[in-house]
Order: sequence, then structure tokens, then C-alpha cells
Amino acid sequence: MRIPLIPLVSGVLASLLLTGTAGAGALEQNGPVPTGKSAQTNNPIYRSGQFEIKTCEEQPVKPDDLDAARVYLEFVVDCLNTSWRDQMSKAKLPFSKPAFVTTSRTGVPTGCGRFPKGAQAVYCPLNKKITFLLDPGILSQATELFLFEVIAHEYGHHVQQLSGIMSSFNTRKYRSQKAYLAEVRKIELQAECLSGAFIGSVWRSLDRVESDFTYVVEAAYDTASHGKSKNIAYWVKRGFDTESPNACNTFSAPKSKVS
Ligand SMILES: [Zn+2]
Repeated sequence: MRIPLIPLVSGVLASLLLTGTAGAGALEQNGPVPTGKSAQTNNPIYRSGQFEIKTCEEQPVKPDDLDAARVYLEFVVDCLNTSWRDQMSKAKLPFSKPAFVTTSRTGVPTGCGRFPKGAQAVYCPLNKKITFLLDPGILSQATELFLFEVIAHEYGHHVQQLSGIMSSFNTRKYRSQKAYLAEVRKIELQAECLSGAFIGSVWRSLDRVESDFTYVVEAAYDTASHGKSKNIAYWVKRGFDTESPNACNTFSAPKSKVS
């Protein structure tokens, strides 16, 4: 029996508190980016349909091999760039690639403060950069789907940034910590759904069995910022089954699904 060591949800809240567009890569301009509450509830990505690109070749990876894991992740980022560029174009939204770096320790600068303990990866909207921690814990499970799932989740935050969903979140005032966390959960659960949608879209091209997916889903646990484990599982599976961001409107979902 495999014992999950890596929590499914390991993005970080602090990175979401900052706004800005400095450091963007070359932007491929499509239509205007939506703003305000409707950017979250009625975003064009919910009408973009299924991912049309159905392949992503996983590179060879073995446990405890930092270089192999880094190369593996870089290839997955390439897949995400290809799939999401097409998807954003269908939604008539601008696209640019995120920056991507790995680190073997916490505490390094991310563009949104230092890399915090307890996180597996950070997306910083200021510089549109994903920083991924490759520490012994995740490297020991490098053949599992955790690397794939976490990078697809962080990429989901990049999509939220490109589509106006993150700016809408960042520019609003919250009357209490409780109200704020309720919105953070919608952001995080949506990133899970976007991750699941991408994984589902390329699933048949991966040399994987169903238990690889369920193993990662079952590793989720309850937190105030990311929601209950049953809701994390609900959103990642919902994305996986539909292979489309259309399934990922956490902002119009019943409260019980974003608790
Ligand atoms: Zn996250």
C-alpha cells in the first residue's frame, strides 16, 4: 500500500494577496480581460469548452533524482503552455507563459515574498512566476502524479491571473477573515478543478492507471484556505471528468461545495 506523503493541496495563500502585472512575458493579445465580480462568475473560460489538445508526454522520472524531476516538470509546463494557449485563444483572452523555476529549499525569493515552509509550490501574480519546491519528500514520490497535479494547480492560478479572476479577488475588500477565506477557497478549489481538467484532457496519452489519480485525490486534507477534502476531491474530479474549464465555476457554486 502506498502511503501519501504529499498533500494534494500545497499552493500558498500569501502569493494571492498581491496584485500587479509587472514582469509579464510576451502577451498574445486577444479580447479585453474581464473585471469586477463578473470576471469570476461569468468568465469566458467557462465557455471555452473541452481542451482540444489531448496529449502530454511524461518524461522518465525516478525517485530521489532532482535533475530528472526538474526536467519532468519543465516538460509538463510545456504541455500546459500548449494546451492553455489554445484554450485562452478559444476564450478570446490574452495569453503569456508563466516563468517557472525550481528550488531545493524554502526561504528563497518568489517575487511575492520568501517561499514559505509547508508549501510545495507558489504562484506569484506580480511576476507571473511559479516556484516549485523539489525537496526530499516529493522527490521520494516523483513517479506518482503529485508533481503533475501540483504544477497543473499552480498553472491554474496563472490562468486565473490572465483571465481577470485573480485581480477581481485581489482588488476587493473583505469585511472579515471568514469572508476572506470563503473567497480564497473559491480560488483554490477552482485551481484544483483547472488542474483536474487538464489532467483529464491528456489522461489517455499518459502511461497511467486510474489508481494513480485516485491516490493523489485521496491525499487531500481539510484546511480553511483550500476547503474540505471532500470538496477538493469533488472539484478535481469534476474537472477531470469534463476535460473542460466549463466545469470550474466555483464562484457560482452552492456554499456546501466551496466549504
Ligand atoms: Zn493554490
